[in-house]
Amino acid sequence: MALTKENTVVGFIGLGVMGKSMASHILKAGYEVVVYNRTKAKAEDLLASGAQWQDTVAGVAARANVVITMVGYPQDVEEVYLGAGGIIPNGQAGSYLIDMTTSTPSLAEKIYARAKENGMHALDAPVSGGDVGAREARLTIMVGGDEEDFEAVKPILSLMGTNIVLQGKAGAGQHTKMCNQITIASNMIGVSEAIAYAKKAGLDPTRVLESIGTGAAGSWSLNNLAPRMIAGNFDPGFYVKHIIKDIGIAFDSAKEMGLMTPGLELAKSLYEELAAQGEENSGTQALIKLYDK
Ligand code: NAP
Repeated sequence: MALTKENTVVGFIGLGVMGKSMASHILKAGYEVVVYNRTKAKAEDLLASGAQWQDTVAGVAARANVVITMVGYPQDVEEVYLGAGGIIPNGQAGSYLIDMTTSTPSLAEKIYARAKENGMHALDAPVSGGDVGAREARLTIMVGGDEEDFEAVKPILSLMGTNIVLQGKAGAGQHTKMCNQITIASNMIGVSEAIAYAKKAGLDPTRVLESIGTGAAGSWSLNNLAPRMIAGNFDPGFYVKHIIKDIGIAFDSAKEMGLMTPGLELAKSLYEELAAQGEENSGTQALIKLYDK
């Protein structure tokens, strides 16, 4: 049976920088939305707009036939899906489970297999596009799993993103996201270095962006994060602690495949240095601080 607004209750777990905006689009589209977050205060706006609160992950899983998660780390994903109070032990048979957290490909495969054993449908669907993309419902969504499950939930994914592609079987979404993060990791070094160079050369960095933002150097990071670097706005955005997590996942995965990743290694050491200076809860654009010293 196709999912419709009438027969669907969407559960949303993880209402941080990204999840809060993503859940709001589903609510605005007219779906019944049931939410849970570790820190309840972050759900207040959604509750005021008509979302329903559950006190536990298990409570959301019992109510919803489509459960979306946007938590922080792979260990959060493991707990939320596979723990005793988790989605799979407490969810409805036939439900669709969509993890949009950036997590490991191997955990996505494990969740897919466990979901299948319990008559549920799991997809890994990490995103790109940042806090802006989440707010404006313009995310890129990279999906792994079965095609019929992808097609079933695509109308719901379309409420959060504009570029939604099935990349292959379970884990393929997370592998694709690692390609994205590998690109970003080296690109952010280039962006920081370019802005630091512009300042040292006595240029107006904002005017420099007017030229290089639309040429061959143009990128999402250059156009969205360099202005924040110039303005001295280091709010997250995308947390330094999360890019360190993502670089770690990509690094381990590349190592398993015997792939050399010198770009990732440099980014890893620079972001770890930044975190050691107390910047782990800043946005990734704080990388410029290493150059401004
Ligand atoms: P965030 O603000 O830290 O949000 C994560 C939320 O999940 C937090 O509100 C956290 O609760 C909640 N949470 C964690 N474990 C939980 C659990 N066991 N049960 C219930 N809630 C739990 O991070 P974010 O920036 O939204 O990022 C979320 C994920 O998306 C990360 O994997 C990140 O790497 C990825 N991502 C982020 C961006 C970006 O630009 N921000 C872009 C693409 C992908 P608390 O409120 O208690 O901490």
